[in-house]
Amino acid sequence: MHAEKILAEKFGISANVLDLCREAESELAEIFARIDETAEYNQLKVINAMQESKLSDIHFAATTGYGYNDLGRDVLEEIYSRVFSCEDSLVRPQMISGTHAITAAFFGNLRPGDELLSPCGRPYDTLLGVIGLNEKSGSLKEYGITYTEVPLNEDGSFNFTLIEKSVNVRTKMATIQRSKGYSFRKAFSVAEIKELIRFIKSINPRIICFVDNCYGEFVEKLEPTNVGADLIAGSLIKNIGGGLAPVGGYLAGKRQYVENAASRLFSPALGKEAGPTLGLNAPFLQGLFFAPQIVAGALKGAVFSARVFEKLGYEVIPRANEGRSDIVQALRLKTPEAVNAFCVGVQSAAAVDSFVKPEASYMPGYKHDIIMAAGGFVQGSSIELSADAPMKPPYDVYFQGGLSFLHAKLGVMKGVQNIMD
Ligand SMILES: *Cc1c(COP(=O)(O)O)cnc(C)c1O
Repeated sequence: MHAEKILAEKFGISANVLDLCREAESELAEIFARIDETAEYNQLKVINAMQESKLSDIHFAATTGYGYNDLGRDVLEEIYSRVFSCEDSLVRPQMISGTHAITAAFFGNLRPGDELLSPCGRPYDTLLGVIGLNEKSGSLKEYGITYTEVPLNEDGSFNFTLIEKSVNVRTKMATIQRSKGYSFRKAFSVAEIKELIRFIKSINPRIICFVDNCYGEFVEKLEPTNVGADLIAGSLIKNIGGGLAPVGGYLAGKRQYVENAASRLFSPALGKEAGPTLGLNAPFLQGLFFAPQIVAGALKGAVFSARVFEKLGYEVIPRANEGRSDIVQALRLKTPEAVNAFCVGVQSAAAVDSFVKPEASYMPGYKHDIIMAAGGFVQGSSIELSADAPMKPPYDVYFQGGLSFLHAKLGVMKGVQNIMD
């Protein structure tokens, strides 16, 4: 029996959609080969880091309580530091998300009177409350840390002139968001981030260049820490947890900045020295081991979705044949009905909770109602097959993940089929 027969009989995919998808996939061989080549490079980088750190099965033992002398945690962080070519890392289940890791980076390294600069426009939605852009108790603003941002140029490039004008004696940190987040723009390539960091350092070399690396890990061969970033952060339930990490966040970069964040996350008395890993070192490490392949599958799914929707005449960012620096595919579906239908279709392709029908609703940290298709083994994990959209014009949906290309492909087919139905 062929896969197409199961797709038709068990998943309700019509002959039209099957033809469209088969044709789209056949056009992508060259792009897929490039993705595989990057995955191989990153796979070798990860294995090499594990070998050089002498990873051994004793490191999978669980610690509890204070978590002093957690050998596995130390080696995990050493491996992250090697993967990112940086001085130090903090990789912990006590950081529950990307937002939490970024919050620790900001509060740990900024002091009253300092200013945080975003040279690339408005940051990701959940960070607005952290910065104090919407009134939230405990924001940077409440602690006397100010914020300024420079919008991107019309064409999505950095406005260097305005960035230079916006730097002042209080500018302590620049926060650069690699991924598109919920904005209809391209992710910044590591090369573009390099140019931006070089520019900021040329104005004042003491400005801490921080990169929100969420969704970016292993998409390219280099990471922001390879090109001058002082500190980066991300979520383990996105790319770098490889689908196996059940929770967690990481920070990587210069030793002092990582230590400052740890002092804030835990306590100035404890820094990085404590924190039990509760048996999670094994899935963190195995997830890291799988991550380059998982990211490759997700990237192929993103490219495939872009090509399918291009063929249907929709605007997509990035286009199928464009370079990528994150795993997120933005699809401009134009109507709330299409967004809804796509997300319901993606959800129905899930292995977990396929029978659930997503509906737009309030989510903590977000301004508009959000519709989310997310049937994952780990709650909210967006390295797993997922699609989300803020319910507002022009009705863009953000599609990402799939622990294999095959699953991502099914998600796209179900999404398209549901729009057509
Ligand atoms: C996902 C994401 C975050 C943080 O999100 P969490 O859900 O808190 O992990 C921050 N920035 C960007 C660009 C993201 O994609």
